[in-house]
Amino acid sequence: MIRVLDCVAQQHDLRLVALSAVICALGCFATVTLMARTDARGRVLVRTLLPAAIIFGGSIWALHFVAMLAFRPSAHVAYDLGYTAASIVVAIVGTLAALTLWSRLSAAPLGIALAGILLGLAITSMHYLGVGAMRASSLVMLDPNYVVASILISVAFSALALARAGALTSLGRRVEVTGWLALAICGLHFTGMTAVTVAPIRLQDGESYVLGSTLLALAVAAISLTVLIAGLVALAMQQHLSQRALRELDRMRLLSNLAHEVLFIHRDGHVVEVNQAGTRLFAMPAEQIIGKPMLALFAEADAPGLLRRTRCRSEELRPEEFEIRTAIGTHVPVELSCRTIEFGGRPATAVALRDLTDRRRDEARIRHLALHDALTDLPNRYLLEQRLGPALDAAALDGTGVAVIYLDLDRFKAVNDRHGHAAGDALLVQAAKRMLTELRPTDTLARVGGDEFVVVLSGTRAPQQVAEVGSRLIASLRRPFQLDDHRVEIGASAGVALYPGDGSTAETLLRAADTALYQVKDEGRGVVRFFEAAMDAQLQARRQLEHELGGAITRDELQLFYQPIVNARTGEIETFEALIRWQHPERGFISPGEFIPVAEQANLIGQIGEWVIDTACAAAVAWAQAWRVSVNVSPTQFRQSDVPAIVAAALARHGLDPARLVVEITESVFIQDATKAVQVLTDLRGLGVRLALDDFGTGYSSLSYLQQFRFDKIKVDQSFVRRLGQNVDTLAIVRAIVNLGHNLGLQVTVEGVETIEQLAILRDLRCEQMQGYLFARPTPVLATTELDRARLRALFAAPSIKAHA
Ligand code: C2E
Ligand code: MG
Ligand code: MG
Repeated sequence: MIRVLDCVAQQHDLRLVALSAVICALGCFATVTLMARTDARGRVLVRTLLPAAIIFGGSIWALHFVAMLAFRPSAHVAYDLGYTAASIVVAIVGTLAALTLWSRLSAAPLGIALAGILLGLAITSMHYLGVGAMRASSLVMLDPNYVVASILISVAFSALALARAGALTSLGRRVEVTGWLALAICGLHFTGMTAVTVAPIRLQDGESYVLGSTLLALAVAAISLTVLIAGLVALAMQQHLSQRALRELDRMRLLSNLAHEVLFIHRDGHVVEVNQAGTRLFAMPAEQIIGKPMLALFAEADAPGLLRRTRCRSEELRPEEFEIRTAIGTHVPVELSCRTIEFGGRPATAVALRDLTDRRRDEARIRHLALHDALTDLPNRYLLEQRLGPALDAAALDGTGVAVIYLDLDRFKAVNDRHGHAAGDALLVQAAKRMLTELRPTDTLARVGGDEFVVVLSGTRAPQQVAEVGSRLIASLRRPFQLDDHRVEIGASAGVALYPGDGSTAETLLRAADTALYQVKDEGRGVVRFFEAAMDAQLQARRQLEHELGGAITRDELQLFYQPIVNARTGEIETFEALIRWQHPERGFISPGEFIPVAEQANLIGQIGEWVIDTACAAAVAWAQAWRVSVNVSPTQFRQSDVPAIVAAALARHGLDPARLVVEITESVFIQDATKAVQVLTDLRGLGVRLALDDFGTGYSSLSYLQQFRFDKIKVDQSFVRRLGQNVDTLAIVRAIVNLGHNLGLQVTVEGVETIEQLAILRDLRCEQMQGYLFARPTPVLATTELDRARLRALFAAPSIKAHA
């Protein structure tokens, strides 16, 4: 080593040595720059290998001969032209062979070693051919040890250079490889030169093929200049390329930051770039993401799937779903797709992630909506059935029971009609909340219809306990509800079916509970009823009736009977009450008491009621005398139909004097919405018809109704008359009612008078009118003859019996 340094220092012109080193360095850098050019898949471009070999060969050659010019052996030196030319050819061809081998086999260590040996030998061959070209006025001798050392140095550094040339992406790496190549050349050269000893001899005359120092200097200058220029061009190219790469990178960043999707680029599984959407999604700054293994950004469970995709082969291009892990520890579902791209001059994988949070949330919402009621968020009928089935299966296995409560809100429709649908909705939501507080978390409360709910109580509970739950639910709904500024009161009825007694499937149990509920509604509402087998038959019959009633009008099966209402002093007929009859083809006459409630529930009452009003008006105009005609309007009809309009139309159609029409309603029309009832009554009064409060004394009997609206008359319910003889208080009550009516300025009619005795007692009460079988039964056609009227007068002509209770 010392001898080598000594050789450099003592036997060389150091300025030329420095020049040779610069040429060598630039040449090597130019070579490395060319070697760094790759195609999209990262393979070295074959077309750049030849220029690289020419530049590298030229560099070795230029270094060698500039250094030879710097070499100051004691003798005069000249060079053989053939050898000199051969040396540059060997340098270029050898380098080309070595680089070609490297480009093909760079993945295998043996390939790199072979290429390194080849390159080292190319450099060595050039050198020793150059040395062999020396035609000195002296003898050139070589020390074999230094020759061997020089070859080893050259091969070793060449192999190292090629081994490190695998990834020439960074400038640092290129400089490093340039250094190894320069060392391979310089190390060889100066060690090789140390091996040379020049002993002076005379040159033979006429050795014209010999290149003198001046000529050599010219040749060397030309080739060195070429190498220098190539080196400078390479430097400029490098600068340009890196600027272009930076510009490209900037453009790419700008574009990717504009993208909505998360984009990141990874190479060999490590992130090298990420856009702003990515930093937002991962909740980490870009610096923290870049450099991370890609797997560290995803949920652990996704690793196998991701590993499969890191290579991103074309058959794997379809998007796949994964979950990423954010810096704050949350998992976010994403759809991943990837493409192989060139990034920074080398292949990499671009990964696009689409945040699926919104899509998943929408999907979950849709699933939820399919199974829940949108208003109350309770399970819907579908989900109820889905849960009830397995609950029954489980109960069957452990031999336990299940209770199904079918619950219906009473007077819900009135709230809806009066306060609007928004209030109705708010009421349902509050009702659902109240019920939930009465239930255990394991029980299910579902909304199965407008105001219908079903409760499933799992785990055996005794019927008594089930009844208690039902009563608690009803009681909770009976408490007033506050809807904005209105306070409303509703109620509820409940039907219960028990598993396994009342049914073994979800369907049969729900039907049984519904049947029980139907029964409650029929019987007066507000309570809990358990299913009984007999209800089924009743329900069937009722459904049948409903069905048949639907066609009764068109089949002309409805008929009006008329019953006279007489003057309580004279017995003169004043009014005829129209009473409907249904002549059933098989069952004969069906009383209104049986089919009117059915018509109300089946929504047929409006149609039937309109027919009654129309038929009664038509009949009255045809009567021989101007008797009044009285029609009954059911509470449901009163609420649902536009009764004033219907009455006005009928009066107009038949030309009946409004004063001859009496409309009878019952107190229950006030229950749900008294204000609206008063409004309708006022409208009717506006038409000029008379208004009677029927069945007075039964039902709610709130005197406040009489104050809210001034009726023309009240009809005392026949149940009082029936009890007259049985109960001493009854007469007092009836008398009180009659007095009350008179005090309010109303006429009073007493219904249900059947016997002479009853008549005798009632005459003393001084009511205005009487009605009952004693005077006449309802008959199909008005067939009152003079004879009948004489009989009626006779009844009243008899002296009255003083009734003393
Ligand atoms: P209401 O309006 O109180 O009619 C009087 C009921 O008492 C009639 O029964 C009549 O036949 C019956 N009645 C009359 N005098 C006596 C008597 O001395 N003794 C007994 N035991 N009963 C007597 P009906 O016709 O069966 O009607 C029952 C109820 O059906 C009526 O009670 C009324 O509320 C309703 N109704 C009848 N016709 C119609 C109608 O066209 N439309 C509507 N919505 N309801 C009707
Ligand atoms: Mg009546
Ligand atoms: Mg009545």
